Amino acid sequence: MVAVQAQDPAQAVIGIIFGPPGSGKGTQASRIESEAMLKHLSTGEILRAEVAKGTPTGKEVGRIMAAGDLVPDELIVDIVRGRLPEAEAGAGVLLDGFPRTVRQAQALDAMLAEEGHRVDLVIALEVPEAELVERLLHRAEVEGRADDTREAIAERMHEYHKLTEAVLDYYRRQGVDVVRIDGTGSPDQVFERIRRALPSPPAWEDASGPKGPGRVGGDAN
Ligand code: ADP
Repeated sequence: MVAVQAQDPAQAVIGIIFGPPGSGKGTQASRIESEAMLKHLSTGEILRAEVAKGTPTGKEVGRIMAAGDLVPDELIVDIVRGRLPEAEAGAGVLLDGFPRTVRQAQALDAMLAEEGHRVDLVIALEVPEAELVERLLHRAEVEGRADDTREAIAERMHEYHKLTEAVLDYYRRQGVDVVRIDGTGSPDQVFERIRRALPSPPAWEDASGPKGPGRVGGDAN
């Protein structure tokens, strides 16, 4: 039973929300941001903003993303390096979409170590692949995201299995608390599972349910 608090309770919490494309990381991270005050840092959103600016880097990134491939580790690590200090300044940060490769995880750990920080927890959303594809194709109709085509979705799943899944093992081996959450059902249901599975961060203490440090159970498995 490990409490959601930084290794040093005086410091910000460093969390990662992890899951395959379409698992709802962004949706849940926004909810956690508003209800638990962990700053949501989404590399996908940062990259989409770069693409929208139409800079030379943005154009190159846009091509990579539209194909469903990962942008180079160096590029994304530099982006995170630029944003992390501000994000860490508050109660804590929840990284969404990063790290996506073991090299990125190692780079993150090195950045954090410079500040005397380390990753405190990983929330891993789990959704069967058939449902993920269905969700992404539905999102393509609603939002028209450039990487929600059938081909790009297949490539993103492939990259996830080839490069990203290993990040979970990397953190498990380090003894980081990896909380597995059933990501099926409505966003509200998933959020409730997260809330029940995590020990209460300060902002959640008024909510119903057990209080205080320590894992409070829930149906995460
Ligand atoms: P999803 O997880 O649904 O695919 P994201 O918004 O997290 O959506 O990411 C969209 C795309 O942005 C990825 O497919 C990839 O091309 C790029 N991207 C985002 N984060 C990273 C990262 N950490 N490393 C490499 N590429 C990234």
